[in-house]
Amino acid sequence: MEASLQVSVQTKKGRIQKDEPTVYMDFMKSHCCYDAIPTSCKLVIFDTKLKVQKAFFALVANSLRAAPLWDSELKRFVGMLTITDFINIIHCYYKSPLVQMYELENHKIETWRDVYLKCSCPFLISISPDASLFDAIYSLLKHKIHRLPIIEPTSGNVLHILTHKRILKFLHIFGEKVPKPAFIRRQIQEMAIGTFRNIATVRQTATLFDALDIFVDRRVSALPVVDEKGKVVALYSRFDVINLAAQKTYNNLDVTMLEALDRRTCFMEGVIKCYPDETLETIIDRIVAAEVHRLVLVDRADVLKGIISLSDLLQAMVLTPAGIEALLS
Ligand code: ADP
Ligand code: ADP
Ligand code: AMP
Repeated sequence: MEASLQVSVQTKKGRIQKDEPTVYMDFMKSHCCYDAIPTSCKLVIFDTKLKVQKAFFALVANSLRAAPLWDSELKRFVGMLTITDFINIIHCYYKSPLVQMYELENHKIETWRDVYLKCSCPFLISISPDASLFDAIYSLLKHKIHRLPIIEPTSGNVLHILTHKRILKFLHIFGEKVPKPAFIRRQIQEMAIGTFRNIATVRQTATLFDALDIFVDRRVSALPVVDEKGKVVALYSRFDVINLAAQKTYNNLDVTMLEALDRRTCFMEGVIKCYPDETLETIIDRIVAAEVHRLVLVDRADVLKGIISLSDLLQAMVLTPAGIEALLS
């Protein structure tokens, strides 16, 4: 255990905390990716010769959000297929409800990658089980991805796909012995953790295609859905777009956001929010308990004020104390 984890002092009344801004950084540096792998989990791998439509149906059938891609000619993993790819494909080929999306039905994953990779990451970003969780966080934030496969170097096997959610949950469960630093009792508005300006939103009267357009253009992971007064009425995340594959309704993206929200079968009721005067500790507890990737920051009238995502929390709690600033900007 590293020095900064031992900063608390034992007294008759219990532990006295010292302000120790690096405890979470030290925790992540002292645990490896292997430690965060759950005892059992499902993993699906796609051959790049599989048709894209079948691949997304397979993600739905297995309740998964992403899969590593195997190139059987190169005999190695070459990338990931995520819901963002599904969004990019339907956004790219959609014309109108009357025109069948031939490309979605007939393209193989490798054909799509030939089109798409000209403007995106052409190789798999992965991590070894021995690498620290600190390195995993750095990689997730630096590459602006949400899925980091842990690959065993000798066998080349994928052991797990690490996410921000898993890492924060691991800290929450196993970091109980870590003394809580004073900064987590501070209000979120003082700490400026999150994004507060230029928030990408979608109006409830806009079309689903408009929302996909914003996902592609702004590369954000979710859109607060707002009414004409700027009040948050719902949240539509990239994950929710997989409902279109589950229900085979991707051929009509002209529906309004209100209809799209109504049609979701797999989703979360209400909006999981937070307020500017709540403490960082409250926010961590709420985001972990709700198992979501972000909280929507609102004022008491539900008017949108910002987004606090797991990326923002990991940046502030782990990377900033290490002197690594603003990977998210
Ligand atoms: P989502 O939030 O939909 O799960 P990501 O933000 O992780 O998706 O993915 C964004 C883009 O980056 C997608 O095109 C995806 O295929 C790609 N990608 C995601 N993870 C990796 C990775 N580990 N290596 C290479 N590319 C990746
Ligand atoms: P992922 O696990 O892929 O990161 P998300 O956390 O973005 O997925 O989304 C999972 C589900 O939770 C989606 O249905 C999404 O709309 C919902 N969700 C995510 N964040 C919130 C939130 N702050 N309020 C309400 N629902 C949310
Ligand atoms: P994420 O993709 O959710 O991990 O977040 C990456 C960065 O984008 C974080 O700084 C978030 O606060 C920010 N972000 C997430 N959603 C939005 C949004 N709708 N508008 C603006 N920024 C966002």
